[in-house]
Amino acid sequence: MQSAETFTHYRGRFAPSPTGPLHAGSLVAALASWLDSRAHGGQWLVRIEDVDTPRTVPGADRLILAQLAACGLHADAPPVWQSARTGLYRAALDSLVTHAFAYPCACSRKDIENATSADAPRPRHAELRYPGTCRTGLHGKAARAWRLLTHGAAISWQDRASGAQTQDVQDVVGDFVLLRADGCFAYQLAVVVDDADQGISHVVRGADLLDNTARQIRLQQCLQLPTPKYLHTPLVLGANGEKLSKQNGAQAIDTNQPMHALNQAAATLGLPVQSGNVEQALSVWTAAWASAWVRPERQACPT
Ligand SMILES: [Zn+2]
Repeated sequence: MQSAETFTHYRGRFAPSPTGPLHAGSLVAALASWLDSRAHGGQWLVRIEDVDTPRTVPGADRLILAQLAACGLHADAPPVWQSARTGLYRAALDSLVTHAFAYPCACSRKDIENATSADAPRPRHAELRYPGTCRTGLHGKAARAWRLLTHGAAISWQDRASGAQTQDVQDVVGDFVLLRADGCFAYQLAVVVDDADQGISHVVRGADLLDNTARQIRLQQCLQLPTPKYLHTPLVLGANGEKLSKQNGAQAIDTNQPMHALNQAAATLGLPVQSGNVEQALSVWTAAWASAWVRPERQACPT
């Protein structure tokens, strides 16, 4: 397995889904990934994750890019759109099929629910674990989706913020979807292909994606792609105590007051409140971020 040492240059990214404008929660991930890139003297890219076309809101991508610019978070290359990159995901899926890492699945959501109803009750919002029904073939049914063949070994990795992590993907989610029944490539496949294609060495993103990481590392292993370093940032919670999202009423950040929005995001990251302009604040926070997150990493890995 290749490791983050494969990368010779730091390259980070912010990868928003254009399901609505940036809000206080998504700005935390944007700011943290930008600061980490700057603190490492690396590059920062923006990727619009619009592969889930039914959830994409027309115009949200341009709005997000304008909001990032108003907050002084400028990318080092033009943004890319996942919807323009489906040929890469198709090639990756073909490769997984060729190497017997992927198989077609005929199950509907109802089939999976029925097959797993005897299992122990799952926590709310927990992912439906796929029981592997179609591993032995479609039994005359038509293929709806394609899934990755997982195996019983746990995936372990080191999160820069949360420390040692381990997950048995087969036990938690089972063989997960690569190509959905509606013809959209799954987030897990697109993100892994894009991170590798763009040479992303460090992934900094919200903690809601922490439990997706094992699936992505498993895919990297199957596709013989390097594994970036991961850092998952704290989530901003809505009034209902759940992750702030468009679904629970998160407001778009006010680009007329970028310092207000940036200070809120910085506070979530444990950075000091700033009263200067955007440029000055970003400079102070980059230095603070470097002390907190870059120097300890270098001490731990002198190479
Ligand atoms: Zn199935």
